[in-house]
Amino acid sequence: MNQNEHKNIKTGINNNQIIELCRELGQKFVSRAAKYDVEGSFPVENFDDLKEAGLLGIMIPTEYGGMGADFLTYTRALEQLSKGDASTGLTFNMHNIAVGSLSELQIDGIGGTREERMKGFITWVYDQSIKEKKIFASASSEPGIGAHFSKLKTTYNRVDGGFVINGVKNWVSMAGYADYYVVAARVADSESETPAVSFLVVDKENPNARVEFTWDVLGMRATSTNPVYFEDCFVPTEALFLGSEGMALYKIAREPHWLVGGYNGVYLGICSATFEFMVEYLKTKKIPGTQTPLSEDSRIQHKVGELYAQLEATRRVTYDAARLVTERPGTPEANMAIHHAKFMVSELGPRLTSEAIRTCGGSTISRRMPLERYFREARCGGLMPATSDECLFYLGKAAFGTDLSKPSETYW
Ligand SMILES: Cc1cc2nc3c(=O)[nH]c(=O)nc-3n(C[C@H](O)[C@H](O)[C@H](O)COP(=O)(O)OP(=O)(O)OC[C@H]3O[C@@H](n4cnc5c(N)ncnc54)[C@H](O)[C@@H]3O)c2cc1C
Repeated sequence: MNQNEHKNIKTGINNNQIIELCRELGQKFVSRAAKYDVEGSFPVENFDDLKEAGLLGIMIPTEYGGMGADFLTYTRALEQLSKGDASTGLTFNMHNIAVGSLSELQIDGIGGTREERMKGFITWVYDQSIKEKKIFASASSEPGIGAHFSKLKTTYNRVDGGFVINGVKNWVSMAGYADYYVVAARVADSESETPAVSFLVVDKENPNARVEFTWDVLGMRATSTNPVYFEDCFVPTEALFLGSEGMALYKIAREPHWLVGGYNGVYLGICSATFEFMVEYLKTKKIPGTQTPLSEDSRIQHKVGELYAQLEATRRVTYDAARLVTERPGTPEANMAIHHAKFMVSELGPRLTSEAIRTCGGSTISRRMPLERYFREARCGGLMPATSDECLFYLGKAAFGTDLSKPSETYW
């Protein structure tokens, strides 16, 4: 059976249909994107649509009632959603960073109480996502630390019945909207170079998790990315992600595709939307003083051809990387491909949106048109993990044969 014909028995949807569903939703998001961007408000209606469509379970295996998408399908689906509204795509990806990483685990046969704990946790996350339609946010980055997991200052202490978290996360997308924060923290009092970093799930209603609404930025304005303060924040034992302490840093180093590659679909979506807008615009905008559309000018055709070549090269690299993750997750080839794609797509965005504005002309910086928003949003790609410089560092090290499955050899 062709992998795109693989059907989810419970939801009755195959991989191509998932992408098509996201394309339709993305088109619906287009009309709302400008308003959310201007207001800097969270795209609540878009998330209602994602919930309604069952997309909170996009990565959840079919036997649990999810859509069972693979990483390639996910990347392409995210591209479609982000073409409509990149803030929605980016925040939707944060939910899937938590949920999607679970769907790839092979835990049958681990045995004993550890396997039971892991299965119990996974079933809970799946039920929360599918039945309760709850959203998980990723709370890792810290002031002055960014997303460098080995340097985190947020700590947790083991206490009777659970853990107590203390620290600040200053870049939590969906803060105030998501139902749960997945908080990365290091065990208190560890001096190790590769500390035991764990993830702990904090309920939004926890009285000791306080959001400060300060987000007012250049692009990705509708993501509600705000600081959350965890002050003597108690969580029960069951809040420990996967029921296992200390695995986070190793898992991220070995399989960085969720933390790095999830963004690829988002920023590719902005590039695709930019190109489509530019082509349509140039078909109607006339050469000054004539009735001839700019699209008939050979210099314009040449420029558009050049941008097409850059976009398609990046798209191929992005899809190929996602395919490698689908087929051979965590292998050096897949990890290198994901960093390569992240670099390409993050660097293309600012260049392509800038060239599109230059080619289409001054009117397109108007807020009535989406191009100026794409320009601002595309700038954010290279700031997110792995930054463009970190991607190059990773690729260069890998080319020299360094074993990048060791956290100490990575940028984390
Ligand atoms: C729109 C948006 C949404 C986000 N959402 C989330 C979210 O939901 N959850 C989350 O956890 N995070 C989120 N982040 C944060 C993101 O993951 C990064 O952590 C953050 O963008 C990095 O911030 P920074 O540039 O201050 O830090 P850094 O990555 O530390 O970079 C600061 C500067 O230092 C340089 N630098 C870094 N390391 C070194 C080094 N070793 N030597 C020399 N120079 C170095 C970098 O190149 C850069 O110039 C979001 C970011 C954005 C833009």
